[in-house]
Amino acid sequence: MGTVVDAAPIKATNESLAEKKKPTVVFVLGGPGSGKGTQCSNIIENFGYTHLSAGDLLRAEIKSGSENGTMIQNMIKEGKIVPSEVTIKLLQRAMEESHNDKFLIDGFPRNEENRAAFEAVTGIEPSVVLFFDCHEKEMERRLLSRNEGRVDDNIETIRKRFRVFLESSIPVVEYYESKGKVRKIDAARPIEEVFESVKVVFTPKNEKAN
Ligand code: UDP
Ligand code: MG
Repeated sequence: MGTVVDAAPIKATNESLAEKKKPTVVFVLGGPGSGKGTQCSNIIENFGYTHLSAGDLLRAEIKSGSENGTMIQNMIKEGKIVPSEVTIKLLQRAMEESHNDKFLIDGFPRNEENRAAFEAVTGIEPSVVLFFDCHEKEMERRLLSRNEGRVDDNIETIRKRFRVFLESSIPVVEYYESKGKVRKIDAARPIEEVFESVKVVFTPKNEKAN
């Protein structure tokens, strides 16, 4: 009996997200410094999405003084992937608090476990996965020349983040490629040029001809 009662509220929460709002989700993936955040800002201005950066949500969680803060801070400093449970809770909360039903989820899922857990917990599959493809030299240049005071924008952590990206995040891109959901963008170009390619993905097919 007890287990039935305990399970009910969890199910209800998941249902409210998956069924009540039926959100449209686009995952925005790409290596560190590939321009995910920059392009998401452009997308939200033009296409009515709400931008949820997993990295920004985790950094806000550190600042809020949450009990997970120190753990998250240490993972980010090492370029490691924070446990799915923590990140998914933050994403779920942000989606529930939003009045929008269209979300760009940036920098998540970062590994297969993130991906499977998100789909299992929320019941949401992305409609499309944007993949910003950029070579490491350019990503490194961008990360080292931006000055956002991030603890992970130093050469040592950057190298670790590149490795984690190749080993853990590329398999997620490959998974969605096998499902025909990936739209690959050449992200080594200037911001405006990249956005021209991004726009095509968000423009309905019947409008493209005009
Ligand atoms: N991170 C994580 N899970 C996520 C998103 C971010 O663990 O779903 C952590 C991870 O340590 C990563 C850091 O936050 O290296 C910064 O992520 P962000 O997406 O902000 O930056 P990026 O590396 O894509 O430039
Ligand atoms: Mg970012």
